[in-house]
Amino acid sequence: MKPKLFIPGPTHVDQEVLDALAQYPLGHRTADYRELQSKVVAGIKECLYTDQSVLVSTSSATGLMEAGVRNLSRKKVANFVCGAFSKKQAAITKVCGLDQEIFEVPWGQATTPEQVDQALSAGDYDLVTMVFNETSTGVMNPLKEIAEVVNSYPDVLLMVDAVSGMMGSPIKIDEWGVDMALASVQKAWALPPGFSVTSLSDRALERSKTIPDAQKGFYFDFVRMHKAGEKSETPVTPSIPHLYGLLTQLGRIKSEGLENRFDRHKKMAKRVREWGQERFGLYAQPGYESDTLTCFSNKAGIDLIALADAMKSKNYLISGGYGDLKGKTFRLAHMGDLHMTDIDDVLNVLDEVIETL
Ligand SMILES: *Cc1c(COP(=O)(O)O)cnc(C)c1O
Repeated sequence: MKPKLFIPGPTHVDQEVLDALAQYPLGHRTADYRELQSKVVAGIKECLYTDQSVLVSTSSATGLMEAGVRNLSRKKVANFVCGAFSKKQAAITKVCGLDQEIFEVPWGQATTPEQVDQALSAGDYDLVTMVFNETSTGVMNPLKEIAEVVNSYPDVLLMVDAVSGMMGSPIKIDEWGVDMALASVQKAWALPPGFSVTSLSDRALERSKTIPDAQKGFYFDFVRMHKAGEKSETPVTPSIPHLYGLLTQLGRIKSEGLENRFDRHKKMAKRVREWGQERFGLYAQPGYESDTLTCFSNKAGIDLIALADAMKSKNYLISGGYGDLKGKTFRLAHMGDLHMTDIDDVLNVLDEVIETL
């Protein structure tokens, strides 16, 4: 038996969803396929509270992180950094050769609307990048409030790495005014890895039309992806198994109810924080703790690598810190298809294991 996943991606996948991925393929230029994609896209739009575009991508989320900056900036990108993943977005921007400025806060802290306002008022930017849920530190940034600030600058688009937040916490794309929110499906969507989705606002699509092909490249050109999407197709052969999986998962999400799903995540997060707050301390700044994963610091001074190893020997995979925080923090995911009974279970086993260290 494989260890149950309590790491922040890939996350636990239920058997019903796994089974859905194993269906016999369709021809991707057939009416049956178009029906599949159109149902999936309609379902994702409901989940993201948007009537604008949703694109599906056969790539991990990093593909869309690169696509976003290549498709959406003509002038200068403001990259807001608060941990390892938002730092990666800044690095991607640099590698793509785009003009940029990086605004970093100490890890564990949130990016704030005030910080964004100050940065935008002082420079000539046309794109903001930020992370919704910083998976390395367990910080959830105040997206709604930041979007409000960005929207007060008419030429500036807002691109959000929502990889570990989407489907665990609400993202109201149209109401909040988010131009692009991307996620891969192996986090709170709770599918196996290899596929990603993004919302795309009408004005973001218009921006992409003005960007030269040489900057956008071929595979991730939003105009090309959107054009195929209008016919409920993709420009090239998609991962059809993931579309089957998403259709099944969307049905399950509908049965649970979106609000109930988000509420379940809130309750699991609260339970995990209460379990370890005193003993370990939370790495995230108070008031900005994530609802999909918790990052503990190590007040207790235990051997975190040994802890993760001991948990693995009992068939539970937890994460011993990411990037610069390896060995200094440990993280527990409470997202996707994990439920309170799973959380109670892993916390009990953690208690037992910690006694033996
Ligand atoms: C996991 C993660 C990524 C990377 O996603 P891939 O699907 O591995 O490309 C990016 N950003 C955040 C916030 C993540 O949690």
